Amino acid sequence: MNASKSSILIVYTGGTIGMKTDAATGALVPFDFSAIYDEFPSLKRLNVDIDVQTMSPVIDSSNVSPANWLTLAGLIRDNYAKYDGFVVLHGTDTMSYTASALSFLFENLAKPVVFTGSQIPIGVLRTDGRENLITAIEIAGTKIDGRPAVPEVSLYFQNRLFRANRTTKRSAEALNAFRSYNYPPLAEVGVNIAYNLPAILRPAETAGRELRIAERLADGIAVVKLFPGLDERILGAMLSAPGIRAVVLETFGAGNAPTSEWFIRVLREAIARGVIVLNITQCGGGKVSMELYETGLRLQKAGVLCGYDMTTEAAVTKLMYVLGLELPEEETRALLRKPLRGEFTA
Ligand code: ASP
Repeated sequence: MNASKSSILIVYTGGTIGMKTDAATGALVPFDFSAIYDEFPSLKRLNVDIDVQTMSPVIDSSNVSPANWLTLAGLIRDNYAKYDGFVVLHGTDTMSYTASALSFLFENLAKPVVFTGSQIPIGVLRTDGRENLITAIEIAGTKIDGRPAVPEVSLYFQNRLFRANRTTKRSAEALNAFRSYNYPPLAEVGVNIAYNLPAILRPAETAGRELRIAERLADGIAVVKLFPGLDERILGAMLSAPGIRAVVLETFGAGNAPTSEWFIRVLREAIARGVIVLNITQCGGGKVSMELYETGLRLQKAGVLCGYDMTTEAAVTKLMYVLGLELPEEETRALLRKPLRGEFTA
């Protein structure tokens, strides 16, 4: 490899981006990413050397599991020293979950891990995948003053680079399918790539520290979205389901929930049994502030933790990660109260 070039590992996991139309049959068939330079000769003009690894089997991302996340994290760890950056090609449906999970699994990450995908298969003329792929590679290989421009787990889609654990898929149709309601883009792509340097995580304590990867993700997590009419038996059954360890409670507005006696009692009982309840808002934008209204204050008093402006994807995967560390309860709660990878703003 040419020493002056960045070296990038592309990991293809599956999803729409990897499909092309078979010339003979007209059917969609998987694209062979190992022949990437044959398909996109223009990539040779980027100042990067590219290797490709394809996960086996490639999957529709609706089938992704925490076990796949651990495998993917392990693959990046095994290749970490060899490459300057990583591009993960993933189905869009659960990309924000996978990318959020990886952000928590990696401690002391100092190289770019850029997720991308597409709404239209890469082999279809009007694809959005070509631009997403090429720009993701360029971002993963970009250095500013000799250091990686974005040493975070990020997600690139249609002209914007986001912190991965702030994203959520918001459209099954539009090409700008992802949103980061509560955190600005890390980069915006027009004629040039404009990096938003103050927004990019570069924790001083990461410098010189070895990358560490968690080896376990906990199960026993549930997501409960409140709605008027939710009844006691259903909530009670969910919160006392066998194996339950934590609940992401998607509340109304700024973290509000009914003040009825039964509702608070069911939560209190679950918390007394050791179940963690994390309050996030079901609104896309804005955050939970439990002190604002009586309805939120009662949750706080019952022992519900504040998730501030976290996405559901970040809340679920953070709980999997933190509970997977198997720490004493107070340490677990302390880790949930603070941002670990820039996933919320208090
Ligand atoms: N179902 C596909 C997936 O998530 C959709 C896509 O890639 O956009 O794997």
